[in-house]
Amino acid sequence: MTLKTRFAPSPTGDLHIGSVRTALFCWLYARRFGGQFVLRVEDTDRERSTQESIDAILNGMAWVGLDYDEGPYFQSERFPRYREVAANMLADGSAYHCYCTPEELEAMRAEQIARGENPRYDGRCRERREPRDGIEPVVRFKNPREGVVIVDDMVRGPVEFDNSGLDDLIIMRADGTPTYHFSVVIDDSDSEITHVIRGDDHLNNTPRQINIIEALGLTRPQYAHVPMILGEDGSRLSKRHGAVNVLEYREQGYLADALLNYLVRLGWSHGDQEIFSRDEMIRLFDIEDVNPSAARFSPEKLAWINQQHIMAADIDILSEQLAVQYKRMGIDTQQGPPLKAVIDAFRERATTLEEMAESSWYLFDDVTEIDAKASKKHLRPAVKEPLLALRNHLAEQDPWEASAIHAAIDAVAADCEINFGKLGQPLRVAVTGGSVSPPIDITVELVGKDRSLERIDRALAYIDKRISGSGS
Ligand code: GLU
Repeated sequence: MTLKTRFAPSPTGDLHIGSVRTALFCWLYARRFGGQFVLRVEDTDRERSTQESIDAILNGMAWVGLDYDEGPYFQSERFPRYREVAANMLADGSAYHCYCTPEELEAMRAEQIARGENPRYDGRCRERREPRDGIEPVVRFKNPREGVVIVDDMVRGPVEFDNSGLDDLIIMRADGTPTYHFSVVIDDSDSEITHVIRGDDHLNNTPRQINIIEALGLTRPQYAHVPMILGEDGSRLSKRHGAVNVLEYREQGYLADALLNYLVRLGWSHGDQEIFSRDEMIRLFDIEDVNPSAARFSPEKLAWINQQHIMAADIDILSEQLAVQYKRMGIDTQQGPPLKAVIDAFRERATTLEEMAESSWYLFDDVTEIDAKASKKHLRPAVKEPLLALRNHLAEQDPWEASAIHAAIDAVAADCEINFGKLGQPLRVAVTGGSVSPPIDITVELVGKDRSLERIDRALAYIDKRISGSGS
């Protein structure tokens, strides 16, 4: 039988990065062993499922590039199939109609709690044969009352559950829709899933599902329950800890490969290697190597990994994504240096493409204001002469290249008997409006000749004003 994994999100919100990690593990395991990967949308809860969320799942999966061989399947399209199986189970006695009202169930619960027992359905409708007027019944699974279920988990090893702790769970609601436990079992079996890899919040559900599988005479898949991702404070990763929606990471200028690289390391390792390409992950990943203890999410580490990927990424991919960032910022890149040159200059200093776009705006937009602190510090009256001399040197430069610009700064600095930085930094403030940029010669080349000269003139005018204003 072909190895087959599936990712089965419920479309009730954004695609959480914890879910993406689960999907990644499923995908990697299938890809590593030449298997198939299935996407199944678990939308049986008609009230909480939304089209918006389905779109978020599909777009998120497309962005991170976790391609599926089958699907997306939608459980909402399979209701007749679940009803058919439920009818068979009613007929063979492995399931029964339950007519208990919410009031009766509540009273049962209160009595059990009063007796110090764990609240659970006591199976009182198991032997009932007559319907009750005016009550649409649910269908309950007849869970074995004795014995144990052993989940032989690929991450946690064998975990034993006592059937006496499980009750007869509802498999079909009164409105004819299936519950999660039921549809998951039927779908996994119908699509011949061999490995169920999912979050360990589902571990306690597994013995119930195994009992249904046994009752139906189906083949039990292998299970792997992967630990949750925690925030840095040790609680379950949520919006309180920052962005958890995978598409927000795209907006913030993370690379999909970097995000996957970061996520795979949450619970899985290969020696002390931190940076993995997609192909390397596929080659090395094994679900059996996933660590059963929970991993903590670190935004700093993600940023670091993103930077490593930015340094190594294909320049065409980076250009495309950088263009998206400029567009979001409303920056028109028609006038200015080619994006590839910008990336060459900035890739070592930006942890995200958003940061790259934000720190390089002056290559495309007018610098109308110079940072007050930087100008006060670096555009001093004493700089006027060297800066003017440099301006005149630069005006002669053709072609406009970093090496020639560097030589011009060197020559003027030597003439004026100041060091390179004493001229380079005022020049940087003049052409970028701030005090941080890539190497000054490269920056000035990227800003372009006309723009650079114009901006130096504006800085000189500022210095003049300062001279006449303060008299110093
Ligand atoms: N739909 C379930 C969830 O989103 C996943 C169930 C499963 O993987 O079995 O948690």
